[in-house]
Amino acid sequence: MAYAYDDQNIFAKILRGEIPNDTVLETEHTLAFRDIQPKAPVHVLVIPRGAYVNADHFANTASDAELADFQRVIGRICTGEGLCPDGEGGAGYRLISNAGTHGVQEVPHYHVHILGGRNMGRMVDSD
Ligand code: AMP
Repeated sequence: MAYAYDDQNIFAKILRGEIPNDTVLETEHTLAFRDIQPKAPVHVLVIPRGAYVNADHFANTASDAELADFQRVIGRICTGEGLCPDGEGGAGYRLISNAGTHGVQEVPHYHVHILGGRNMGRMVDSD
């Protein structure tokens, strides 16, 4: 597998501190920050610090420590933002990760969108 990572993408610049971000949580391997054009009352992006293009690149090649840390950050964000539908007031959320052309991915650094705070509607348009 040959994944070409563009280190000039905007999330790479955020990770290098070249442009600001609204950080929600940061760990050794992961950064979470608010989307600059939120599509819901809660819209947080979770990205690995490593140079991964998309979900399959990350899942296939990241270390166990990176993978575990990323998943834990998602859990901590959902908890911290009050989104967990666990009987304690959270009403749920949606995770989205776009990849490639058919996924209509804009930024070629792996990220998961956490969206919540309103009903997110049906999963995808049928057309
Ligand atoms: P995607 O289409 O999945 O690649 O989504 C990229 C997301 O990155 C979009 O929701 C953008 O609003 C968001 N975005 C782009 N630039 C920034 C930035 N500088 N800070 C925060 N979010 C950004």
